[in-house]
Amino acid sequence: MNTEELLQQAIDIAIKGQKNGGGPFGAVIAKDGEPIVTCHNQVTNHNDPTAHAEVEAIRQACQKLNTFDLSGYDIYCSCEPCPMCLAAIYWARLGHIYYACTKEDAKEHGFDDSFIYEQMALDINQRKITQKTC
Ligand SMILES: [Zn+2]
Repeated sequence: MNTEELLQQAIDIAIKGQKNGGGPFGAVIAKDGEPIVTCHNQVTNHNDPTAHAEVEAIRQACQKLNTFDLSGYDIYCSCEPCPMCLAAIYWARLGHIYYACTKEDAKEHGFDDSFIYEQMALDINQRKITQKTC
């Protein structure tokens, strides 16, 4: 499959997921154009704020491949990954990220993660959630 087809697959699973009660986000992990997992957002279905499509895809791919290292694989997302997913993508060592719409597009539809990006850029003592060593 080419990039456009894999992105369309991510969009299709996002639509399917939304119809089943999840958030409207999808992700596909593939190697050399061959998808190995296709997942959608499960936050509301599982009452899990970390169950974004990208994290779900990483979890399933790692389980399927019996590894925590997805080097050589790429991720195709219906939307630009949020900071949590972006970090997870780095931790999983995925090679490339492709996305169909931007975080600004998502913001226009009520999914605004800009405050997290802003918080991460602040000094640790200026963030909304306090962090301390004890
Ligand atoms: Zn995310």
